[in-house]
Amino acid sequence: MNTAAAFADFRTYPLISALTAVQTLADRVQVTWADGRISPFHYQWLRDNCPCPLCVYTVTREQVLEIVDVGQDLIPSQVHIDADGCLYVDWQEGHISRFDPGWLRAHAYDEESRAERRASKPKASLWRSDLQLPVFEYSELMTDTGALRQWLLAVRDIGLTQVRGVPTEPGSLKLIAQRISFIRESNFGVLFNVQSKADADSNAYTAFNLPLHSDLPTRELQPGLQFLHCLVNDAEGGESIFVDGFAIAQALREEDPESFQALCEIPVEFRNKDRHSDYRCLAPIIALDALGQVAEIRMANFLRGPFDASVDDMPRLYRAYRRFIEMTREARFRLMQRLNPGELWCFDNRRTLHARNAFDPATGARHFQGCYVDRDELLSRILVLQR
Ligand SMILES: [Zn+2]
Repeated sequence: MNTAAAFADFRTYPLISALTAVQTLADRVQVTWADGRISPFHYQWLRDNCPCPLCVYTVTREQVLEIVDVGQDLIPSQVHIDADGCLYVDWQEGHISRFDPGWLRAHAYDEESRAERRASKPKASLWRSDLQLPVFEYSELMTDTGALRQWLLAVRDIGLTQVRGVPTEPGSLKLIAQRISFIRESNFGVLFNVQSKADADSNAYTAFNLPLHSDLPTRELQPGLQFLHCLVNDAEGGESIFVDGFAIAQALREEDPESFQALCEIPVEFRNKDRHSDYRCLAPIIALDALGQVAEIRMANFLRGPFDASVDDMPRLYRAYRRFIEMTREARFRLMQRLNPGELWCFDNRRTLHARNAFDPATGARHFQGCYVDRDELLSRILVLQR
């Protein structure tokens, strides 16, 4: 049933509750559901969302109607619940719209329905040093879409995962990253090699200790996911360290709200230059989403330019910046582990900050490969796997 209504989307919408009554008001209908919920739908909204093949191109399932092409005061000549349980609207202009009750309920905008949708959005599960690290097997991820989905959900919600049993041939990383989607290329290549080099174009390519940071904070959009794959690790030192940047931001918000505020408000410039490129981005260290939740951390002390804040803001920016870095050094937040050949880290680069202890290249070889995949690719892949 409901084919007329259902083709407006690639997803299917289960019938949560049937439509039992519909009442017409001046500018909207008010429907009553079998479970007692009442949802208003403005006439404009209904006309705007008409799923018929004149309003939505059936091949792309994208809208061709633009709401300005129908009258603002449009009202229906007839509204009822039809034999299929759909909301049937006969518009005065002679157009007919039918709305699948599953789709309608999924998009209802009464207070209760909106609160329900907000509550069902995926939430970051914050962690500290006692995280039970989610570990996955390469062979399963490459063959089993159920295992793949579990892994991707852990990357999305926890922001730090490890994969074991990965082949140690250079380039193997590409195959597993492409299980998600496109790799995001950068000036460091499709895959970058993390090795100590004499002509290093980044501190990452030295044997130095690297403090907790996100990669490419120098870009308007920092890469969403980062992969680090260990091929060889014979050198002493070089342990990986991670902190949940969202957990630190949350703790800062509670323990020192003024510093939290300063890091959300005052932009800081990050820079990365070499002979051929010059990347710069001016943005606050903590970014909030439209609902005021922490959505992103941008931090790499070794890529930061001099602060350029007002004379009044400078002391509070330093206080906040020092506090944030001190917190990244606190044991309560830090997870430290040495990566062995055939293991890889996959983490949310815009949330989970990573660091490396100094290593001693004289004690043996060390070779990691890395790459990036954007968050959009991860989220899209999860939604398609869940269809
Ligand atoms: Zn239509």
